[in-house]
Amino acid sequence: MKFTNMFMPTTKETPSDATLPSHQFLVRGGFISQSGAGLYDFMPLGKIVLDKIRAIVKEEMDNAGANEMLCSFVTPQSFWDESGRSSTMGNELLRFKDRKNAEYVLSPTNEESVVNMVKNRITSYKNLPVNLYHINLKFRDEARPRFGLMRGREFLMKDAYSFHSSQEDLVREFNLMEETYKRVYQRLGLEFRVVEADSGAIGGSGSKEFHVLANSGEDTIVVCPDCEYGANIEAAVRKKRHFDAWFENTNTPASMEKVLTEDLKTIEEVSNFLSVSKAQNIKAVMKKAIYDEDSKPVIFFVRGDDELEETKACNAVDALDLVDITEDELKDAGLTPGYCGPFNLPQGTIFVIDSELENEIGLACGANEEHYHFVNTDLSLVKDAVYKDLITVQEGDSCTCCGGKLEYTKGIEAGHIFQLGTKYSEAMDAKFLDENGKAQPFIMGCYGIGVSRLVAAVIEQNHDEKGCIWTKETAPFMVDVIVSNAKKEDELNAGLKIYEELKSNGISTIIDDRTKERFGFKMGDFELIGFPYAVVVGKKLQDGLVEIVDRRDTGSKIEIAIDEVATKLK
Ligand code: ATP
Ligand code: MG
Ligand code: MG
Ligand code: MG
Repeated sequence: MKFTNMFMPTTKETPSDATLPSHQFLVRGGFISQSGAGLYDFMPLGKIVLDKIRAIVKEEMDNAGANEMLCSFVTPQSFWDESGRSSTMGNELLRFKDRKNAEYVLSPTNEESVVNMVKNRITSYKNLPVNLYHINLKFRDEARPRFGLMRGREFLMKDAYSFHSSQEDLVREFNLMEETYKRVYQRLGLEFRVVEADSGAIGGSGSKEFHVLANSGEDTIVVCPDCEYGANIEAAVRKKRHFDAWFENTNTPASMEKVLTEDLKTIEEVSNFLSVSKAQNIKAVMKKAIYDEDSKPVIFFVRGDDELEETKACNAVDALDLVDITEDELKDAGLTPGYCGPFNLPQGTIFVIDSELENEIGLACGANEEHYHFVNTDLSLVKDAVYKDLITVQEGDSCTCCGGKLEYTKGIEAGHIFQLGTKYSEAMDAKFLDENGKAQPFIMGCYGIGVSRLVAAVIEQNHDEKGCIWTKETAPFMVDVIVSNAKKEDELNAGLKIYEELKSNGISTIIDDRTKERFGFKMGDFELIGFPYAVVVGKKLQDGLVEIVDRRDTGSKIEIAIDEVATKLK
């Protein structure tokens, strides 16, 4: 490929909302272009990277014996009614009507579609197991699309769905998928951890997440430095013994307020906290508080004037099951129920809300700012304060962990696998005949990889102040042959010769043959785009020498004879 043939509009302009390096550099490097909130076009360079990641995912899934298929992106709402998720998925599910007033959904995930595909087509245990996957667009109307490709509304996911006649067989496939995912992230050249996770809205029993380690990760994960044990914060909290201690020390509104306002600020100063938008964490904390007889003051619940308002509000905090707490239960726990819209909360009530959801909650509840009593609005601070130093692996868990002192780190959720069980097959009446001729619901697993999120995750883990540094497997081109002055025929010809030779050696190569751009500008593009190597054809050409620049090794340079370039870069 030649620069002069390729559309790669690099720019010095950083989008005003781009706080993360991957967002900034992918836009500036001409990989992606934003078309709307959470909507991105992949320009040619971005498409090459996306396809490389996609190809690795496909290869590993195929090797694991999964079958590639393709579900329609638009799904009838009736599927979602059948599974019950049209009411539980909340506002992330984007619905619309066609000209005949029939209702549809833009798929945020495809359990329903695949159950529909398999239902009545696999009728016997003899045709099980099977694992079906596709790499397809998803749409989730995220409350806060942000961070570029990291949290888009439309994004590319690899999602797989497996069907089994027994739980043991599901566990076998689940483990196979775990190994397959590890291979994918290893091949991509990423540092990652596999962690125990909660199943969230997808449902089911066992689940594991795959986190690419990066300071900018939205998730806090707990890892053991001495073994492979890891858990996301939601899963880790279930294992925590010392949870009550925090509440014991903070069981009055005043002390709680102190912790939330003062202590946390100190923690904030010393730690590099990042926002975490997992309302489940508030849920875990607050549920505990609500039910804890000794700690009365903390109330976190959202109530609207009517059921719809309540649902909207609770969807906003992803805390649906909190609505199920009845007033009687609250009263039994010594708490005064409060209402949103407008709030009618007793003085001293502490509302802890993720600042990122503040507006949504406010809007959903029809409340304005004076109705809030936000003592602290940054969930990550609350969460980290609650869990800091408190997480220990329980005795009995030393089957999963060697007992080392657990550490916190930040991760980007790049994959998630679930043992679903019969949740969807039962709801959608999808059955097979077992060995005894008895109809049984399929036992299912599902397995997701955020393919487009991975494009950003690679850069979050591999960049410097100048731009992207692609890993070898993800680089759009391995080598950029920079012709310093392409107006000079000898330089251009030497560059083209090297370019052809590298290509014939199977090394993916691009040549910067632009005549109008100066060397410094070309070098800037090389650094911003992040090709692993540059071969600079310039002044030393008269001595038969060129320079190889290693972007992955802080731009270190070596001089080398022209005819040794291909051997060196192979
Ligand atoms: P998150 O916690 O980040 O919202 P999730 O748990 O809702 O993600 P899953 O339902 O587990 O996501 O989907 C599987 C994978 O799809 C995730 O592990 C992630 O890599 C990717 N993914 C999910 N939401 C998005 C998004 N909005 N933009 C890009 N990728 C996403
Ligand atoms: Mg999500
Ligand atoms: Mg998640
Ligand atoms: Mg997930």
